[in-house]
Amino acid sequence: MSSTNPNKLYQKLFTGLKKKFCCNEVDNLLEYSRKRIDKNDNKNIVRFVCISDIHTPSRIRKERIPWQFPQGDVLLVAGDLTMRGSAREVSQVVDWLRDTPYSHRVVIAGNHDFCLDPQDDDYSPEAEAALQRECIYLRDSSVVLFDSVKIYGSPVTPEFHSMAFNVARGSDIEQVWSSIPEDTDILLTHGPPLGHGDLVHNGIRAGCADLLMRVNQVRPAYHVFGHIHEAYGVTTDGYTAFVNAACCNLRYFLEHQPLVFEFAVAEPQQKPSLDEQLESGLSLGN
Ligand SMILES: [Zn+2]
Repeated sequence: MSSTNPNKLYQKLFTGLKKKFCCNEVDNLLEYSRKRIDKNDNKNIVRFVCISDIHTPSRIRKERIPWQFPQGDVLLVAGDLTMRGSAREVSQVVDWLRDTPYSHRVVIAGNHDFCLDPQDDDYSPEAEAALQRECIYLRDSSVVLFDSVKIYGSPVTPEFHSMAFNVARGSDIEQVWSSIPEDTDILLTHGPPLGHGDLVHNGIRAGCADLLMRVNQVRPAYHVFGHIHEAYGVTTDGYTAFVNAACCNLRYFLEHQPLVFEFAVAEPQQKPSLDEQLESGLSLGN
């Protein structure tokens, strides 16, 4: 079956008697995440704050953002930092991100961020470097935080009006998603998969079917994205929580709150005993 017609495929996979995939709404992501943490295994709890589709860098400082940044450790930004994709806009976003109260900021680009796309005429290595200085910038790549959480990020969305990081649906985009590592814990993409956070205001499903298939193989605990502003919210298929964190509404006004979840990471580092320190030569300064 062709993966290039998401609406037909949605009918086939998500509705009817023989449906293969399910999609249940999650009202409170933080509560959902806490239920998934086993309190008995003495792990550190880290808090992730998700945003996407800021789009309005020149207005960020002037406009009253309709929310306070929630407490957290890691900020996840799922692309569309800018409106027109200029290097100037990226530098405004970088200044803004620098002031956010998080120890780590993991960022991807989106289809509006032309100057970050190496295939685009407006590509600016300087804008990319500025982002890399202040953030963990992922472009079809991964990072491991706290010795245990693997986050993979990709700016790619299915071809639509020849925007940045666009790849044709079908075998081309399937190839892109095949790079998502099997052991990904948190997946960060700009666009949604088919059937989760992808319902456009006109009733069309815009999500990527090939991304859904890959997520179904990898089963990350969280898949964070944006792109479809009006489909902000959280759903789950029973394995993965799908988080559409688009901050802008359909009219590109910042309206939606950041979404927060907690995640158990590697056990707290035990301080070595004095005996162990002597044995390893630590106390001798070796
Ligand atoms: Zn957007």
